[in-house]
Amino acid sequence: MTRALSFPTVLVLSGHDPSGGAGQQADIEAIAAQGAHAAVAITCLTVQDTADVRRVEAVAPALIIDQAEAVLADQAVAAIKLGLLGTGAIVTAVAALLARYPAIPVVTDPVLVATGGGRLAADDLIPALRAALLPRTTVLTPNAPEARALAGVDDLAACAEALRVLGARHVLVTGGDEPGAQVQNRLHGPEGQRVFTWPRLPGPFHGSGCTLAAAMAARLALGEPVALAAERAQEYVARTLAAAFRPGCGAAIPRRWLRDAADHG
Ligand code: PLP
Repeated sequence: MTRALSFPTVLVLSGHDPSGGAGQQADIEAIAAQGAHAAVAITCLTVQDTADVRRVEAVAPALIIDQAEAVLADQAVAAIKLGLLGTGAIVTAVAALLARYPAIPVVTDPVLVATGGGRLAADDLIPALRAALLPRTTVLTPNAPEARALAGVDDLAACAEALRVLGARHVLVTGGDEPGAQVQNRLHGPEGQRVFTWPRLPGPFHGSGCTLAAAMAARLALGEPVALAAERAQEYVARTLAAAFRPGCGAAIPRRWLRDAADHG
């Protein structure tokens, strides 16, 4: 009987992207594909297509927290995924909520700028992320520009270490935006460092960062340790990018909803 099945819940706080490429739709699809259940509180509405962002409207912080609390009161949340938060006031409210649930692992995707170049964050977002959210983050998943903006240094290994000093327990810096024939992602944590190397696929892609962070959160919710979750989440993203499609005039979107390797590529 369906009601007897149980899947771990990932509570997601992220933005809506009407193109269906990034944001909460990416989160829901990626989490479902790992075999977990996504429960999503909306933080921002955006106006965007597959090429770029035109407008971002933040939801009132109290309304975001009410959405999240409705989920937390009803379901056993096994991991929390934070995507676009948009403003310092939202970060502060989310950090206060997280302080009441210290045992739940948190994956933070520090969304600042879209692949098309459009800004997604207010000026006060970076200081708030650094001060209030990194100390409560189990895995931070910045791309290279986000890592540099948050850490204030250029070298990506130094960025990861600086972000760990600010409190993030693990940092997975993705290298898709860096030049080179291969993509290098680096995971830094209490156990040390590991570099993952992937073939570079023809992009640009819209929504790859959301897909990675959401898959990562789902794998933690399923009980995997961070290093294994990071490896499996990257393998999943690589498959979705190899099977990406281009529904509009801009970037390609990862094909997230098919699970088996045979369905991809
Ligand atoms: N829109 C929303 C709501 C997002 O959360 C993100 C990224 O996380 C983006 C747009 C940008 O996605 P990308 O950088 O892959 O284009």
